[in-house]
Amino acid sequence: MDIRNIAIIAHVDHGKTTLVDVLLRQSGSFRENQQVAERAMDSGELERERGITILAKPTSVEWKGTRINIVDTPGHADFGGEVERILSMVDGVLLLVDAAEGAMPQTKFVTAKALKLGLRPIVVVNKVDKPEQRAYEVQDEVFDLFSALDANDQQLDFPTLFASAKNGWAAAEPEGPRDNMDVIFETILSHVPAPTIDEDSPFSMLAVTLESDPFLGRILTGRVATGIAKPNTTVKVLNREGKLVEQGRISKLLAFRGLERVPADEVRSGDLVAIAGLTKATVADTLCDPQIETPLHAQPVDPPTLAMT
Ligand code: GDP
Repeated sequence: MDIRNIAIIAHVDHGKTTLVDVLLRQSGSFRENQQVAERAMDSGELERERGITILAKPTSVEWKGTRINIVDTPGHADFGGEVERILSMVDGVLLLVDAAEGAMPQTKFVTAKALKLGLRPIVVVNKVDKPEQRAYEVQDEVFDLFSALDANDQQLDFPTLFASAKNGWAAAEPEGPRDNMDVIFETILSHVPAPTIDEDSPFSMLAVTLESDPFLGRILTGRVATGIAKPNTTVKVLNREGKLVEQGRISKLLAFRGLERVPADEVRSGDLVAIAGLTKATVADTLCDPQIETPLHAQPVDPPTLAMT
């Protein structure tokens, strides 16, 4: 299956949760009987372990045969490296901006990082239904912000979509057509590159988020950089310096579907995965096949090195 991995950058209240809910519903990835209260990007229950923010689960929607994984970004970055790690899972960013408030300084840090990493932005000016909206002005402000952050020409040539997430539509103009969100899906497919896929090398993944589940224990989430993750296989954990943290077995492999995580038999290179079964592995560690010797880093993305056999 084709995959796109994107991050959403948005100031609080600009409509991220509403937008993701609508994308889930319109793509049919949101079951009718599913509790709307269980919202995709609700990050109210942030936990911390060793000073690392644990973010909300990625959301995954399917549109015309392509899986679009959407990851949340922290509103601000207190900890070095966290934003880079999150952005290392994606190939594009969607910057969501309120049509009245405009781009907020709090999102500048993450936007700057995304641009510096060469990610192509898609801008969604949301809440164009507001009487006080100033959609085109906000679009210009975003252009000025990107220029000030040294965006390259391709990044400055960003597509802008205008949306009323609350009313379930997005369009190329603030006036509409007010039909649906199709243009957002289409723009993600056309503007965000597919992830680099390498299914032939042994499994490797940089752990980006960590959470503690009462049944499964430690769950580490990341993008499968190389190879194929499978349950009941042995993985080695390397820290940033390449030291062995532990070796263990994947007791549960989870893929992302809609708002949920579902057990999977395999998750392939390019896709996001959550892995349980390890007891010491943490954020920024590399989970990999025992024959890999070199850890992955968020930036630059190093290919894994094989041990001599
Ligand atoms: P988040 O903090 O970015 O996740 O924002 P939410 O999705 O929770 O939305 C914040 C508020 O803005 C809620 O009251 C939404 O109903 C409202 N909202 C979201 N999208 C729109 C929109 O397109 N138009 C208007 N007028 N309000 C919206």
